[in-house]
Amino acid sequence: MTETNEPTGNPSADAPKAPLVLERARSSRSSCKACKKPIQKDKFRLGVLIEGPFGPGYLWHHLSCAARRRFDDVVQAYDEAPKLFDPELPPLNELKQNLEVEEKKKAKKKEAPYVERAKTGRSKCRVCDQLIAEGDWRVIVLRNVEFYNQTRSGPINVHPRCVRAALDAPDSATPKEGFVQAMRDNSGLADADLANALAAIGALS
Ligand SMILES: [Zn+2]
Ligand SMILES: [Zn+2]
Repeated sequence: MTETNEPTGNPSADAPKAPLVLERARSSRSSCKACKKPIQKDKFRLGVLIEGPFGPGYLWHHLSCAARRRFDDVVQAYDEAPKLFDPELPPLNELKQNLEVEEKKKAKKKEAPYVERAKTGRSKCRVCDQLIAEGDWRVIVLRNVEFYNQTRSGPINVHPRCVRAALDAPDSATPKEGFVQAMRDNSGLADADLANALAAIGALS
């Protein structure tokens, strides 16, 4: 009768459970299914109802992690939680924008060709087989690799001075045409830095 326990903590058997719950964490005891870190009390969390070995229970996620892993569920939870008028709840479009920014950053990292300062002195140039010194320009271009009878393109590191040879190689997967523009688009460098890197690369033909 006077039960005041968290309804999501240890539910009474007959209590109907919403498939999705969006709420502020009532304690710091839950941890996020996505990133495995604890969800601090009062942080927003998304619960996804599952049928566990001991009955139904919620898999909790930080709201930001849920947006990353199961955005559709977050959308649904927002739809179904009109009662959660919390001024601090980030609007859905803000969550989405954050995701897009993250995705762009990720995509940018993967998209070759690009140039960056070598973060360590351990990477080797695949053209001349010499190390690329820490802090020096390192250019990432694509090269075709045979993989179980399939040809795929994968990134390789090269010195700026070795770029021309890399692009001239028969297995190069980075076209010379549009190379400078691609470097500009993908590297995310200030104009002066990019100009410096391009000067180190030199003419391509
Ligand atoms: Zn998380
Ligand atoms: Zn080299």
